Amino acid sequence: MNLKSYVREVPDFPKKGVSYKDITPLLLDPEAMDLAVKLFMQNLPHTNIDKVVGIESRGFFFATLLAEKLKAGFIPVRKPGKLPHNTHREDYELEYGTDTLEIHEDAIKKGEMVLLHDDVLATGGTAAATCKLIEKCGGEIVQCNFLVELAFLNGVDKLKNYQVNSLISYS
Ligand code: AMP
Repeated sequence: MNLKSYVREVPDFPKKGVSYKDITPLLLDPEAMDLAVKLFMQNLPHTNIDKVVGIESRGFFFATLLAEKLKAGFIPVRKPGKLPHNTHREDYELEYGTDTLEIHEDAIKKGEMVLLHDDVLATGGTAAATCKLIEKCGGEIVQCNFLVELAFLNGVDKLKNYQVNSLISYS
C-alpha cells in the first residue's frame, strides 16, 4: 500500500500557486490510517513519551490516535482565543504577516517527554513555534512527526535541534 496515493493534490488551493495536500482520502480509509499509525510508531525513538501535541486542526487526527497507542496524554495547540484556560503564546512569521499559536500553560509538566505531530511540514514556521511553546512549558521534544513533508521548502532547517520524521515526501 502506497500512502502517497491517498493524498489528493489540489492545485491553487487555498490560493493561486499553492498545491494543497489534502489528507481526507487517507482519513476515509481505515487500512491506510492503520498503516500510517503503524509507520509512525515504528519510526519513534525508543523512549517513554508522556504527551502528544497536535497542531490545529489537521494535526489533531493522528496526534490523538498516537496518544492513545502510546498511553500518553493529548494536547491541542490552537489558534489564538480558542483555549479557555491560561496559555503560553508564540507569534511566528507567515509569507505575509504573522500568526499566533497557544498552548495551555499546565498541559506539560517540567521534564515530560513530548511528541509533536502535524499533517504537513511546509516552511516549518508552525512546527518551530509549537516547539517553542512546548519548551516554554518545560517539555522535552522527542520527535516532530508529519504525515507529509514538502521537502523543497526545507522546513527541517527550522527544526535543526530536533529529530524529524515524515511518512510522505514531495521534492
Ligand atoms: P508551515 O508553517 O509553512 O510549515 O505550514 C504548515 C501548516 O500549514 C500545517 O499546519 C499545514 O496544515 C498547513 N499547510 C501548509 N502548506 C500546506 C499544503 N501545501 N497543503 C496542506 N496543508 C498545508
